[in-house]
Amino acid sequence: MRIDIITCLPKLLESPFNDSILKRAQNKGLVEVVVHDLRDYSEDKHKKVDDYAFGGGAGMVLMIEPIAKCIRKLKTERAYDEIIYMSPDGENFSQGIANELSLKKNILILCGHYKGVDERVREHFITREISIGDYVLSGGELAAAVVSDAIIRLLPGVLGDETSALSDSFQDGLVAPPVYTRPADFEGLRVPDVLLSGHQKKIEDWRFEQSVQRTKLRRPE
Ligand code: SAH
Repeated sequence: MRIDIITCLPKLLESPFNDSILKRAQNKGLVEVVVHDLRDYSEDKHKKVDDYAFGGGAGMVLMIEPIAKCIRKLKTERAYDEIIYMSPDGENFSQGIANELSLKKNILILCGHYKGVDERVREHFITREISIGDYVLSGGELAAAVVSDAIIRLLPGVLGDETSALSDSFQDGLVAPPVYTRPADFEGLRVPDVLLSGHQKKIEDWRFEQSVQRTKLRRPE
């Protein structure tokens, strides 16, 4: 899989992709993440990518020209399954969307900044708009990192067996059961006996029961 991300602040995306599981996935060749600096596509000698909003008001708007130039260039290199704009008013991101996107081959993600992008970009270049929640961030970079992380950890081979994504919350419509590690007794706070019993069937039944109870309590819908 390949994920291309267009941003006017590429530095914001450096650390999320350069550590731990996401880094390993790239090193193993399971995913390629390529960040594109919008400023490289600016025609302006000061590498300007934003301008004042027509009609006035506070906040800058990312211009259509550099975005169009960048997207068009990338589209000549490969066919994108989705061209996604991160936007607070997009469809709410979920495990279901992560599962769906993890089956794609090429995904392009556009990050807005400031007041957002010129509406014509959304109308003519974007195939899907995704929000990571009903709140407003300063830019789409962290949101793009969230979406990419949720997708990449689902790719076969990215997680080892011990952290299998299938046992995580939402995959089976249930939230995950509680987990514990050593010590078995911390200042009198004991780990449930069943987990120390070595009886795998009982442990699985207990975990399932905990998942069901937690789901009823925390996500009854
Ligand atoms: N004026 C816009 C917000 C712009 S925030 C509005 O009121 O809707 C700047 C950029 O951050 C957006 O263009 C978008 O790319 C990103 N962003 C902000 N909040 C987001 C969210 N909840 N989910 C995804 N992207 C978000």
